[in-house]
Amino acid sequence: MGILSEQEGDPVAVENAAGRSRILLVCEHASRVLPERLGTLGLSAEALESHIAWDPGALAVSRMMAKSLDATLIYQRFSRLAYDCNRPPESPGAMPETSEIYPVPGNADLSEAARLERAEGLYFPFRDRIASLVRQRIAEGRAPILVTIHSFTPVYFGRERPVEIGILHDADSRLADLMLESAGRSALYTTRRNEPYGPEDGVTHTLQVHGLANGLLNVMIEVRNDLIRDDTSQGVMADYLTGLLLESVPPSQAY
Ligand SMILES: [Zn+2]
Repeated sequence: MGILSEQEGDPVAVENAAGRSRILLVCEHASRVLPERLGTLGLSAEALESHIAWDPGALAVSRMMAKSLDATLIYQRFSRLAYDCNRPPESPGAMPETSEIYPVPGNADLSEAARLERAEGLYFPFRDRIASLVRQRIAEGRAPILVTIHSFTPVYFGRERPVEIGILHDADSRLADLMLESAGRSALYTTRRNEPYGPEDGVTHTLQVHGLANGLLNVMIEVRNDLIRDDTSQGVMADYLTGLLLESVPPSQAY
């Protein structure tokens, strides 16, 4: 038996699989649901609802963007506390023993077998689903533009973060450069390159594995989660980011 029960089903969700847009949206931290077998990982209800378990608002914004772009969205249905799908299995952050200020007792001293079980149950299916969709679209002559959507907490280790939107990239900054230029022109939000995290923090794993490895245009978007707390504000942000992408993606590659 794996980490998920039969009732819990597939760890990967794909929405709008037939989307016409070349943009492929990915949301690794969409959910705060833990596999039942892991219980609470020894965490309080407050911790399990906080940003350490998921990226609040990120899935809602991703869905709205998928709809207005007519893009496919792939997301992980389980919490990053069980397995952080933006980390490779060998990274300590894949099953963090501590997340920000919270120790995660259920992730302490995991055996090799327990780590492998989580990777097999949650990470590999997610990685492989994205990889096969990317392969398929490349074969069809419409190479995807990989866009991952995240949110971050306004206060981290007790410090307020002034940045509102982060445009993150690894070695390939083509799309990020265009988006930053465009964001700078509108000056609606405090937007920064590779903040509040950057490649040195190990957050560009998905971009590396699926974007850089295939030569795809790619970018990771981080939105401060106080800006996407309800339906209305999520809609405003989704519209803004959709516009930013459409302004930045070379027209020949948009559809
Ligand atoms: Zn995230």
